[in-house]
Amino acid sequence: MTPALAWLEPLRSSVPELDADTWSDLCGLSRELARRVAAAPPLDGPGRSRWLLDLRRHLADYGHHAPAGPSGPVWQTLAQFCAGVHDLDLRDATGTGHGAMILTDAAEVTAETWRARLDRGELVGIAATERHGGSRLQEITTRARLHRDGRWRVNGEKCWVSRLVESAGFVVFFRDPDSRITAVVIDAANEGLEREPIAPFGLGGWSWGVLRLHDVPVDPATDLLGRAGDGLAVFRRHFARFRPLVTATALGTAAGMHTLVADALAARHKAGVLPRVRDNALITLGRTHAEITAALLATITTSRLAMAGHPHADLAARVGKAAGIDTAHRAITDLAPLLGAWGFQQASPIAKARADITGLLYADGVHDSLYRSGGLSLLDASMAASTPPSTGHLAAVSATAA
Ligand SMILES: Cc1cc2nc3c(=O)[nH]c(=O)nc-3n(C[C@H](O)[C@H](O)[C@H](O)COP(=O)(O)OP(=O)(O)OC[C@H]3O[C@@H](n4cnc5c(N)ncnc54)[C@H](O)[C@@H]3O)c2cc1C
Repeated sequence: MTPALAWLEPLRSSVPELDADTWSDLCGLSRELARRVAAAPPLDGPGRSRWLLDLRRHLADYGHHAPAGPSGPVWQTLAQFCAGVHDLDLRDATGTGHGAMILTDAAEVTAETWRARLDRGELVGIAATERHGGSRLQEITTRARLHRDGRWRVNGEKCWVSRLVESAGFVVFFRDPDSRITAVVIDAANEGLEREPIAPFGLGGWSWGVLRLHDVPVDPATDLLGRAGDGLAVFRRHFARFRPLVTATALGTAAGMHTLVADALAARHKAGVLPRVRDNALITLGRTHAEITAALLATITTSRLAMAGHPHADLAARVGKAAGIDTAHRAITDLAPLLGAWGFQQASPIAKARADITGLLYADGVHDSLYRSGGLSLLDASMAASTPPSTGHLAAVSATAA
């Protein structure tokens, strides 16, 4: 059994959507990932991202994809966990990723073209964030103007864009000629795109950096996602589905590090190097196992809510991403010292995982902003539901406060 399946097998009763065949497909994906990762050459930079893209194409060629229907999002959530167990860099090993926005919101012909490209293992990036801050999408300044040929020309600058060089297309958010926030898909081969890669602190598997748009032509008849002005709705719907996938990947990485540490301690103990495993190590192993498992179960539920279009889906994805990544981050941080200085070598997987996971504290939503917006939604819901307090109720509250 692969390390990922050792975590997932006890949770099987929590995913009744996965029948024997779809569960067996998931096991097949996990085994294939384990085989390919074990044979991977030690690569950095462009070599590493080429290997990751080849892996994605290979898995697509061999039909490792989510089943159609309601089990699909749950399968994909667990597939992300399986990938993350090996390395956070494997977060795009399978799935439509940001391409999901094209499939659900583009015109039919555009969606079909991109479905075929995604099925071949191509990758789609998202270009939303600008210099003023990614947590304030409403303030973007990238703008389209109407050209005399009836199409639009887009100009602006996006920053911190992941999969900068590897993406076959980008979903770009900008202001349309009427100043409404709008999303389109732009082919990566467009000559008006300029890329400036930046070296990241972690998550170095894929390139990352600035994407500049110089008079990029956009045809509103074919390239729009939703209608003009639907940008914020497209963004919210997408991230309700996408955030649990990112969270599951990060929890997979934490689970992978947990297995690494438990195996290392067991091996040292067996070899007599460590005559007794101290209580602090045992407590950390027990607590982090429970926390990772609980967060994964919550993440699966969040994926279900998004699939069902449940009114709670967006809120669950926002606070669930922040809480789930915080759980994974804390678990890796707490597990690392149990390996001693060995784990501080740059080449050790736990050092890489620690650097990688910090990137997810920002990517797909910085946590204080996500918790804050979650708190606002919850307060709004309470305000809408509550009737004005009676005088007696207010007196009781003041008495409690005193
Ligand atoms: C590894 C990685 C990959 C990424 N990939 C992509 C990508 O593919 N595409 C993309 O578009 N973006 C991407 N991003 C950007 C990411 O979405 C943003 O980092 C995130 O949205 C937060 O935005 P920011 O970093 O600009 O921080 P800000 O939004 O500037 O927030 C920084 C801090 O300022 C605070 N703040 C913001 N406004 C106020 C205010 N009015 N008053 C007080 N405090 C405030 C925030 O709460 C936060 O604490 C990526 C980032 C990383 C690190």
